[in-house]
Amino acid sequence: MTNHLIDTLRAGGADPAHPFAETADGTVRTYADLERRTAQYAHALVAMGLRPGDRVAVQVEKSIEAVFVYLGTLRAGGVFLPLNTAYTAPEVEYFLGDAQPSIFVCDPSMEAALAPIATAQGVAQIVALDADGQGTLRAAADACRTTFEDVPRGPDDLAALLYTSGTTGRSKGAMLTHENLASNARALVETWRFTADDVLIHALPIFHTHGLFVAINVVLAAGASMIFLPKFDPERILALMGRASVLMGVPTFYTRLLKAPGLTPDAAAGMRLFISGSAPLLAETHREWRTRTGHALLERYGMTETGMNTSNPYEGERIAGTVGFPLPGVDLRVVSPETGEALGTGEIGMIEVRGPNVFAGYWRMPEKTEAEFHDGWFVTGDLGLIGPDGYVQIVGRGKDLVISGGYNVYPKEIESEIDALPGVIESAVIGLPHPDFGEGVTAVVVARPDAALDEKAVLEALEGRLARYKSPKRVIFIDDLPRNAMGKVQKNLLRDQYKGLYG
Ligand code: ATP
Ligand code: MG
Repeated sequence: MTNHLIDTLRAGGADPAHPFAETADGTVRTYADLERRTAQYAHALVAMGLRPGDRVAVQVEKSIEAVFVYLGTLRAGGVFLPLNTAYTAPEVEYFLGDAQPSIFVCDPSMEAALAPIATAQGVAQIVALDADGQGTLRAAADACRTTFEDVPRGPDDLAALLYTSGTTGRSKGAMLTHENLASNARALVETWRFTADDVLIHALPIFHTHGLFVAINVVLAAGASMIFLPKFDPERILALMGRASVLMGVPTFYTRLLKAPGLTPDAAAGMRLFISGSAPLLAETHREWRTRTGHALLERYGMTETGMNTSNPYEGERIAGTVGFPLPGVDLRVVSPETGEALGTGEIGMIEVRGPNVFAGYWRMPEKTEAEFHDGWFVTGDLGLIGPDGYVQIVGRGKDLVISGGYNVYPKEIESEIDALPGVIESAVIGLPHPDFGEGVTAVVVARPDAALDEKAVLEALEGRLARYKSPKRVIFIDDLPRNAMGKVQKNLLRDQYKGLYG
């Protein structure tokens, strides 16, 4: 037997001398370096007692060494479990207690605070790695041999335990198998036409599916290269575009890049692809991007539990406000939340997906897993439709659906109308408890600083454009919408903040 995911990621067949990653200080790691470093981490982890199937929990700053730890864990037969660096000690305690890893890697500055917590949760080994890739884990790896025989793992063995972003409630641990990740990497290499000549600008965090699996696995499976940045910095990205070919970002990357005067067709001329995902991209951003750079942004849709599900086409029209077509091997349907029946073209319902990318279930939550599958299809929790031309559109999350006076109100429809008003930057429509209607449709609006816009002006502008039951009862202005690290609007925070609005 072989190690299924590692073998897939080696399929790029990169020449050992080919660059794998260039870091911010200009250091280049080749594929030969990658092979050696991941072997050393695999040895170090095994020496610490890692057995096949054991979890390795990692809460560290982004560094190329952390990428080697990820791949070393896979080679050693372990299950990689990255944690958001923003998680506080009590949150880390919850994740360690839930996942029961045998090894926990944290930042050296957090070790004193987190070690007792980890020990109390039964973690056997606690080691450190800092933002420069230094620490006790690095030291242990440095002392190890540079060749390692990969621990055999099959397609159905677990490769990662990845917690969801917690946008709609407590994060759930998604069990991802070797084939889940391998099939998605293959599908994306094909769909996005990745080759060994590509150079990806990597500016995403690596504790989330986007920066970890979409970005890194695709680079590896194509034998491509990446420029690995510690964080998103628009000026830096602009300066790098001349020698890169692809950028993967969340929508806020693109809105922030659009604010940089240096973003011109010339600056972007050498790039072949700009990809956006993890949160909805405004149609306005798509249009502005095309005007400023001459490139059509490619939006795709995915989630922790499934990896990527759909993508706008590489060739063919990339339509703003849509997430394109199901990836090769992925089936997608829209069903009625009431009857569970598949719906026809253009009808809004619950998006369900099926395919080799769909996870093996929520970690230690058999009932939750059972509840989120419907006749073998995974219920994504996202509402959407399939247009006449086959393009999938997402209209929002099921949990964000507003039910006002018994009518379903899809926030995105109202948000699109509001966003189109002059002076509006963006908006979030939420339902708040209302004594008469059950939920009151409420618009939270971010206006341009110079816009003379008030509640009355917004309501008047919407009159006649939306059915009465869809019209916001109130409009609230704020400076910025609350967002998490992946650029997702946190509507739960807004609902909480304004819950008393209607008394
Ligand atoms: P939780 O499940 O814990 O509430 P989460 O769903 O935000 O958190 P992720 O798995 O990181 O956690 O995000 C997946 C979700 O992100 C999708 O279900 C969808 O709602 C949203 N999403 C991803 N890409 C897009 C996109 N292109 N357009 C709209 N929404 C998107
Ligand atoms: Mg989710």
